[in-house]
Amino acid sequence: MKYNVINRGDDISIELMNTFHELVKPYGLVLDETEPDIVLSIGGDGTLLHAFHRYKHALDHIAFVGIHTGRLGFFADWKPDEVEQLARLMGECALENDLRAVNYPLVEIQITTQNGVETELALNEFTLKGVDTTLVAELRINDEPFETFRGDGICISTPSGSTAYNKSLGGAIVHPSLDAIQIAEIASINNRVFRTLGSSILLPKHHHCDIYPKAQQNILLSLDHLYIQRNDIVSIRSMVAAGKKVKFARFRPFPFWSRVREAFIGFER
Ligand code: NAD
Repeated sequence: MKYNVINRGDDISIELMNTFHELVKPYGLVLDETEPDIVLSIGGDGTLLHAFHRYKHALDHIAFVGIHTGRLGFFADWKPDEVEQLARLMGECALENDLRAVNYPLVEIQITTQNGVETELALNEFTLKGVDTTLVAELRINDEPFETFRGDGICISTPSGSTAYNKSLGGAIVHPSLDAIQIAEIASINNRVFRTLGSSILLPKHHHCDIYPKAQQNILLSLDHLYIQRNDIVSIRSMVAAGKKVKFARFRPFPFWSRVREAFIGFER
Protein backbone atom coordinates (compact mmCIF):
# COMPACT_ATOMS: atom_id res chain seq x y z
CA MET A 1 0.00 0.00 0.00
CA LYS A 2 1.31 3.47 -0.95
CA TYR A 3 0.76 6.51 1.23
CA ASN A 4 1.56 10.18 1.49
CA VAL A 5 1.44 12.66 4.37
CA ILE A 6 0.38 16.30 3.98
CA ASN A 7 1.25 18.38 7.03
CA ARG A 8 0.42 21.92 8.13
CA GLY A 9 4.06 22.94 8.21
CA ASP A 10 4.35 23.67 11.93
CA ASP A 11 6.96 21.92 14.11
CA ILE A 12 4.48 19.60 15.86
CA SER A 13 2.92 18.41 12.58
CA ILE A 14 6.33 17.83 10.97
CA GLU A 15 7.59 15.88 13.99
CA LEU A 16 4.45 13.76 13.99
CA MET A 17 4.88 13.09 10.27
CA ASN A 18 8.45 11.87 10.84
CA THR A 19 7.28 9.63 13.69
CA PHE A 20 4.56 8.22 11.44
CA HIS A 21 7.05 7.42 8.65
CA GLU A 22 9.14 5.41 11.14
CA LEU A 23 6.11 3.63 12.63
CA VAL A 24 4.74 2.36 9.30
CA LYS A 25 8.09 1.17 7.85
CA PRO A 26 7.87 -2.35 9.38
CA TYR A 27 4.51 -2.87 7.64
CA GLY A 28 5.97 -2.25 4.19
CA LEU A 29 3.96 0.88 3.49
CA VAL A 30 5.63 2.83 0.69
CA LEU A 31 5.80 6.63 0.58
CA ASP A 32 4.47 7.77 -2.80
CA GLU A 33 3.52 11.41 -3.34
CA THR A 34 2.23 10.88 -6.86
CA GLU A 35 -0.10 7.91 -6.60
CA PRO A 36 -0.86 7.17 -2.95
CA ASP A 37 -3.67 4.84 -1.90
CA ILE A 38 -4.04 6.69 1.36
CA VAL A 39 -3.30 10.30 2.30
CA LEU A 40 -2.74 11.23 5.93
CA SER A 41 -3.30 14.88 6.74
CA ILE A 42 -1.59 16.20 9.89
CA GLY A 43 -2.73 19.63 11.05
CA GLY A 44 -6.35 20.74 11.03
CA ASP A 45 -9.44 20.48 8.84
CA GLY A 46 -7.84 23.11 6.58
CA THR A 47 -4.89 20.74 6.00
CA LEU A 48 -7.29 18.00 4.94
CA LEU A 49 -9.02 20.44 2.57
CA HIS A 50 -5.58 21.16 1.03
CA ALA A 51 -4.94 17.41 0.70
CA PHE A 52 -8.34 16.90 -0.93
CA HIS A 53 -7.69 19.61 -3.55
CA ARG A 54 -4.22 18.28 -4.26
CA TYR A 55 -5.57 14.80 -5.01
CA LYS A 56 -9.09 15.56 -6.30
CA HIS A 57 -8.12 14.21 -9.74
CA ALA A 58 -7.71 10.71 -8.24
CA LEU A 59 -10.57 10.41 -5.74
CA ASP A 60 -11.67 6.98 -6.92
CA HIS A 61 -8.53 5.31 -5.56
CA ILE A 62 -7.41 7.55 -2.66
CA ALA A 63 -8.71 7.47 0.91
CA PHE A 64 -8.06 10.30 3.39
CA VAL A 65 -7.50 10.28 7.13
CA GLY A 66 -6.56 13.16 9.44
CA ILE A 67 -4.71 13.79 12.71
CA HIS A 68 -5.38 17.14 14.38
CA THR A 69 -2.44 18.92 15.96
CA GLY A 70 -4.51 21.88 17.11
CA ARG A 71 -8.11 21.86 18.31
CA LEU A 72 -10.26 18.81 17.59
CA GLY A 73 -11.01 18.79 13.87
CA PHE A 74 -14.06 17.49 12.12
CA PHE A 75 -12.19 15.70 9.34
CA ALA A 76 -8.95 15.50 11.33
CA ASP A 77 -10.34 13.31 14.08
CA TRP A 78 -7.27 11.39 15.31
CA LYS A 79 -5.36 12.86 18.22
CA PRO A 80 -1.53 13.22 18.14
CA ASP A 81 -1.12 10.70 20.98
CA GLU A 82 -3.02 8.13 18.86
CA VAL A 83 -0.39 8.15 16.08
CA GLU A 84 0.99 4.72 17.08
CA GLN A 85 -2.49 3.19 17.06
CA LEU A 86 -3.26 4.76 13.67
CA ALA A 87 0.05 3.57 12.18
CA ARG A 88 -0.54 0.04 13.51
CA LEU A 89 -4.12 -0.14 12.19
CA MET A 90 -3.03 1.27 8.83
CA GLY A 91 -0.10 -1.15 8.68
CA GLU A 92 -2.39 -4.12 9.43
CA CYS A 93 -4.76 -2.98 6.67
CA ALA A 94 -1.80 -2.83 4.30
CA LEU A 95 -0.70 -6.36 5.23
CA GLU A 96 -4.22 -7.72 4.78
CA ASN A 97 -4.90 -5.47 1.78
CA ASP A 98 -8.19 -4.53 3.39
CA LEU A 99 -8.80 -0.81 3.57
CA ARG A 100 -12.25 0.17 4.85
CA ALA A 101 -13.60 3.56 3.88
CA VAL A 102 -16.79 5.60 3.94
CA ASN A 103 -17.76 7.54 0.81
CA TYR A 104 -19.19 11.04 1.18
CA PRO A 105 -20.85 13.15 -1.53
CA LEU A 106 -19.25 16.25 -3.06
CA VAL A 107 -20.63 19.36 -4.71
CA GLU A 108 -19.78 19.95 -8.36
CA ILE A 109 -19.99 23.40 -9.89
CA GLN A 110 -19.96 24.27 -13.56
CA ILE A 111 -18.92 27.86 -14.20
CA THR A 112 -20.14 29.18 -17.54
CA THR A 113 -18.32 32.16 -19.09
CA GLN A 114 -18.28 33.53 -22.66
CA ASN A 115 -15.29 31.21 -23.22
CA GLY A 116 -16.86 27.92 -22.15
CA VAL A 117 -17.56 25.84 -19.06
CA GLU A 118 -15.16 25.07 -16.19
CA THR A 119 -15.90 22.32 -13.68
CA GLU A 120 -14.83 22.36 -10.04
CA LEU A 121 -15.38 20.17 -6.98
CA ALA A 122 -15.67 21.11 -3.31
CA LEU A 123 -15.52 18.96 -0.20
CA ASN A 124 -17.16 21.46 2.19
CA GLU A 125 -18.85 24.10 0.12
CA PHE A 126 -18.75 26.65 -2.60
CA THR A 127 -19.78 30.26 -1.90
CA LEU A 128 -20.56 33.21 -4.12
CA LYS A 129 -20.32 36.79 -2.85
CA GLY A 130 -20.26 40.29 -4.30
CA VAL A 131 -16.86 41.99 -4.04
CA ASP A 132 -17.68 45.70 -3.99
CA THR A 133 -21.48 45.61 -3.94
CA THR A 134 -24.31 43.46 -2.65
CA LEU A 135 -24.64 40.24 -4.64
CA VAL A 136 -27.62 40.32 -6.98
CA ALA A 137 -28.36 37.00 -8.65
CA GLU A 138 -31.21 35.04 -10.22
CA LEU A 139 -31.61 31.51 -8.89
CA ARG A 140 -33.17 28.78 -11.01
CA ILE A 141 -33.84 25.29 -9.75
CA ASN A 142 -34.09 22.55 -12.34
CA ASP A 143 -34.36 25.26 -15.02
CA GLU A 144 -37.37 26.96 -13.38
CA PRO A 145 -37.01 30.52 -12.01
CA PHE A 146 -36.88 30.35 -8.22
CA GLU A 147 -35.96 33.75 -6.74
CA THR A 148 -33.89 36.90 -7.12
CA PHE A 149 -31.28 36.98 -4.37
CA ARG A 150 -29.91 40.22 -2.92
CA GLY A 151 -27.54 40.07 -0.01
CA ASP A 152 -24.04 39.08 1.01
CA GLY A 153 -23.96 35.75 -0.76
CA ILE A 154 -24.98 32.14 -1.24
CA CYS A 155 -23.38 29.03 0.24
CA ILE A 156 -23.85 25.61 -1.33
CA SER A 157 -22.53 22.85 0.89
CA THR A 158 -22.09 19.11 0.91
CA PRO A 159 -23.40 16.98 3.80
CA SER A 160 -19.89 16.72 5.29
CA GLY A 161 -19.52 20.49 4.82
CA SER A 162 -22.89 21.09 6.50
CA THR A 163 -21.05 21.30 9.83
CA ALA A 164 -18.71 24.03 8.51
CA TYR A 165 -19.70 27.45 7.06
CA ASN A 166 -23.25 26.21 6.45
CA LYS A 167 -23.73 25.63 10.19
CA SER A 168 -22.73 29.23 10.96
CA LEU A 169 -25.43 30.32 8.51
CA GLY A 170 -28.12 28.40 10.40
CA GLY A 171 -28.25 25.59 7.84
CA ALA A 172 -29.18 22.06 8.86
CA ILE A 173 -26.60 19.38 9.57
CA VAL A 174 -27.02 16.64 7.00
CA HIS A 175 -25.87 13.05 7.34
CA PRO A 176 -23.33 12.26 4.57
CA SER A 177 -25.21 9.11 3.60
CA LEU A 178 -27.69 11.48 1.91
CA ASP A 179 -26.70 12.42 -1.63
CA ALA A 180 -27.72 16.04 -1.37
CA ILE A 181 -26.45 19.61 -1.45
CA GLN A 182 -27.70 22.43 0.74
CA ILE A 183 -28.29 26.00 -0.41
CA ALA A 184 -28.03 28.53 2.44
CA GLU A 185 -28.38 32.29 2.23
CA ILE A 186 -25.70 34.63 3.56
CA ALA A 187 -27.46 37.71 4.95
CA SER A 188 -30.19 38.09 2.32
CA ILE A 189 -32.02 41.41 2.10
CA ASN A 190 -35.70 40.87 2.76
CA ASN A 191 -38.22 43.67 2.77
CA ARG A 192 -41.32 44.68 0.83
CA VAL A 193 -39.28 45.03 -2.36
CA PHE A 194 -36.79 42.16 -2.18
CA ARG A 195 -37.86 38.67 -1.18
CA THR A 196 -36.00 35.39 -0.88
CA LEU A 197 -37.14 32.11 0.62
CA GLY A 198 -35.16 32.75 3.82
CA SER A 199 -34.74 29.06 4.66
CA SER A 200 -31.95 26.82 3.52
CA ILE A 201 -32.99 24.07 1.13
CA LEU A 202 -31.71 20.61 0.23
CA LEU A 203 -31.45 19.45 -3.35
CA PRO A 204 -31.25 15.70 -3.98
CA LYS A 205 -28.94 14.25 -6.62
CA HIS A 206 -30.03 14.81 -10.21
CA HIS A 207 -31.44 18.24 -9.26
CA HIS A 208 -29.46 21.35 -10.05
CA CYS A 209 -29.40 25.01 -9.15
CA ASP A 210 -28.24 27.69 -11.60
CA ILE A 211 -27.12 31.06 -10.28
CA TYR A 212 -27.00 33.97 -12.73
CA PRO A 213 -25.17 36.92 -11.14
CA LYS A 214 -26.18 40.34 -12.47
CA ALA A 215 -23.98 41.07 -15.52
CA GLN A 216 -20.45 42.40 -14.96
CA GLN A 217 -20.57 42.06 -11.19
CA ASN A 218 -17.27 41.45 -9.50
CA ILE A 219 -17.76 38.09 -7.82
CA LEU A 220 -15.79 36.36 -5.08
CA LEU A 221 -16.02 32.59 -5.41
CA SER A 222 -14.79 30.26 -2.73
CA LEU A 223 -14.22 26.54 -3.03
CA ASP A 224 -13.47 25.32 0.49
CA HIS A 225 -10.35 27.32 1.51
CA LEU A 226 -9.65 28.60 -2.04
CA TYR A 227 -10.83 32.06 -3.12
CA ILE A 228 -11.04 33.41 -6.68
CA GLN A 229 -12.27 36.81 -7.86
CA ARG A 230 -14.05 36.83 -11.23
CA ASN A 231 -16.01 39.28 -13.38
CA ASP A 232 -16.65 37.01 -16.37
CA ILE A 233 -19.24 34.65 -14.92
CA VAL A 234 -22.44 34.15 -16.84
CA SER A 235 -23.84 31.43 -14.57
CA ILE A 236 -22.86 28.74 -12.10
CA ARG A 237 -24.59 25.38 -11.92
CA SER A 238 -24.31 23.35 -8.70
CA MET A 239 -25.30 19.76 -8.14
CA VAL A 240 -24.30 16.65 -6.25
CA ALA A 241 -21.18 15.47 -8.09
CA ALA A 242 -22.17 12.50 -10.23
CA GLY A 243 -20.00 9.42 -9.79
CA LYS A 244 -17.44 11.20 -7.58
CA LYS A 245 -17.20 10.88 -3.82
CA VAL A 246 -14.50 11.43 -1.25
CA LYS A 247 -13.30 8.36 0.67
CA PHE A 248 -12.40 8.62 4.33
CA ALA A 249 -10.45 5.64 5.66
CA ARG A 250 -12.08 4.17 8.74
CA PHE A 251 -9.72 2.29 11.03
CA ARG A 252 -12.18 2.37 13.91
CA PRO A 253 -15.88 3.17 14.16
CA PHE A 254 -16.63 6.87 14.62
CA PRO A 255 -20.23 7.51 13.59
CA PHE A 256 -21.08 10.89 12.08
CA TRP A 257 -23.40 11.90 14.92
CA SER A 258 -20.73 11.09 17.53
CA ARG A 259 -18.36 13.29 15.56
CA VAL A 260 -20.95 16.09 15.56
CA ARG A 261 -21.47 15.72 19.30
CA GLU A 262 -17.76 15.72 20.06
CA ALA A 263 -17.01 18.68 17.78
CA PHE A 264 -19.84 20.93 18.93
CA ILE A 265 -21.22 19.76 22.25
CA GLY A 266 -18.22 18.25 24.01
CA PHE A 267 -17.50 14.85 25.56
CA GLU A 268 -14.19 14.38 23.78
CA ARG A 269 -12.99 10.79 24.03
P1 NAD B 1 -10.19 28.44 8.96
O1 NAD B 1 -8.80 28.20 9.40
O2 NAD B 1 -10.81 29.78 9.15
O3 NAD B 1 -11.09 27.27 9.59
C1 NAD B 1 -12.40 27.35 9.71
C2 NAD B 1 -12.92 26.41 10.80
O4 NAD B 1 -13.81 25.51 10.16
C3 NAD B 1 -11.90 25.54 11.57
O5 NAD B 1 -12.23 25.57 12.93
C4 NAD B 1 -12.12 24.14 10.99
O6 NAD B 1 -11.85 23.12 11.95
C5 NAD B 1 -13.58 24.19 10.68
N1 NAD B 1 -14.04 23.25 9.66
C6 NAD B 1 -13.55 23.07 8.41
N2 NAD B 1 -14.26 22.10 7.79
C7 NAD B 1 -15.20 21.68 8.68
C8 NAD B 1 -16.23 20.72 8.63
N3 NAD B 1 -16.47 20.02 7.52
N4 NAD B 1 -17.02 20.57 9.72
C9 NAD B 1 -16.81 21.28 10.82
N5 NAD B 1 -15.85 22.21 10.95
C10 NAD B 1 -15.06 22.40 9.88
O7 NAD B 1 -10.31 28.15 7.40
P2 NAD B 1 -9.70 26.98 6.56
O8 NAD B 1 -8.90 26.09 7.43
O9 NAD B 1 -9.12 27.60 5.35
O10 NAD B 1 -11.04 26.20 6.18
C11 NAD B 1 -11.91 26.66 5.17
C12 NAD B 1 -13.28 26.40 5.66
O11 NAD B 1 -13.61 27.39 6.63
C13 NAD B 1 -14.33 26.55 4.61
O12 NAD B 1 -14.53 25.35 3.90
C14 NAD B 1 -15.54 26.96 5.42
O13 NAD B 1 -16.39 25.87 5.70
C15 NAD B 1 -15.00 27.48 6.71
N6 NAD B 1 -15.44 28.84 6.90
C16 NAD B 1 -16.34 29.08 7.88
C17 NAD B 1 -16.85 30.33 8.05
C18 NAD B 1 -17.86 30.56 9.15
O14 NAD B 1 -18.20 29.58 9.83
N7 NAD B 1 -18.37 31.75 9.32
C19 NAD B 1 -16.46 31.39 7.24
C20 NAD B 1 -15.54 31.12 6.25
C21 NAD B 1 -15.03 29.83 6.06
